Amino acid sequence: MDLWTLKESHGLPASLRNISWMALASQARVLLFDQACNPYRKFMENLTAVRSAVAFPSRAGLPLHFQNWSRRSFSLRIYDSAQEISDKCGGWNALRCGRLDSPCAESDDKNWKKDCQKTIYSFLAAKEAQHHQGRLRSKLERWILGDPTHSPFIRIPTRHLTPHWQARRCHALLGYLSTPVPPRVQSAVFGIIWNRWTTSVRFQGTGECTFGCSDWPGLDKAEHYCKCEVAKEVLRRKLNLNPATYGNLQTMMMVHPSIDSKETLTTVALWCYGLYTTANRLRGVGGYEREEVIDAITQAIREGARGHPHARKVLDQRWFREARTTPLPVWIHQDFDKKTSRLRALRAVAGSRREVRRRLN
Ligand SMILES: [Zn+2]
Repeated sequence: MDLWTLKESHGLPASLRNISWMALASQARVLLFDQACNPYRKFMENLTAVRSAVAFPSRAGLPLHFQNWSRRSFSLRIYDSAQEISDKCGGWNALRCGRLDSPCAESDDKNWKKDCQKTIYSFLAAKEAQHHQGRLRSKLERWILGDPTHSPFIRIPTRHLTPHWQARRCHALLGYLSTPVPPRVQSAVFGIIWNRWTTSVRFQGTGECTFGCSDWPGLDKAEHYCKCEVAKEVLRRKLNLNPATYGNLQTMMMVHPSIDSKETLTTVALWCYGLYTTANRLRGVGGYEREEVIDAITQAIREGARGHPHARKVLDQRWFREARTTPLPVWIHQDFDKKTSRLRALRAVAGSRREVRRRLN
């Protein structure tokens, strides 16, 4: 489900397409606009005849074994699909008007036919994207981020260790990441939080740290890489960030309160990308010296910023004392209640705030 609502729920640049929603949206479009279903009255007469034949096959002269096949007929399938969507969105007219700034009659709406399928798909995606913070909270649960020992050198307020605050903070920063870094970096951070990192421990194995910090088995895991000596060395020497503050799991999961500016967020995200890609590349290879691994991570970080002006600029100015820092936007620190989150999700399909409120109330 997460892949289908990456954009709507988590602020990534795009979501993967869900083929079931796509089929539902196209079936509804066919019912509304295709020649085969017009005029609508004639279509409904034929539909009633098909329903009758399916219910009483012998009366209609149909062999009994065709009954199941008839239930999946073209007309029944598209009518049922369109009805399901219409019930969910409160009627076609509400959906059509929802995408307009000022609602108008259907005859004046010249773009409805062209936008129909896209609007229905967006509505279905937005409908599924309503509980994103709950989902994020359940994903973060496995990392036990409320444990203050993750950051032994910095005191974090108790409120910032609660699952609710962390899920909200992580959701806000994940969404905001689409501005300061390219999509590949945002995707890597998302993958770390979702435990996509193919470490040995994730597959119930006991591999050594791929950065070669120790021969001790069982260190090939995300919980280690965030505080690995090699990773901290990169933070200190290459990115000018204090390892005691940022070299921990809470930073990697985007919940650390010390991530307080756009530049710090960009640097931390690039660091996560560098660790993620280098660890994956070095797994099973081995034999590199510590300095070589640091160079490899540094190069991966530069690759992460390649082609993105802001990320490149931040990376180039890590040691520049006069470099400007931009505070994170105010909305990241604000507390969203459930209704506001739902509003934000529905804004994806409806053009006017008034229309969204009308539908919610
Ligand atoms: Zn290590």
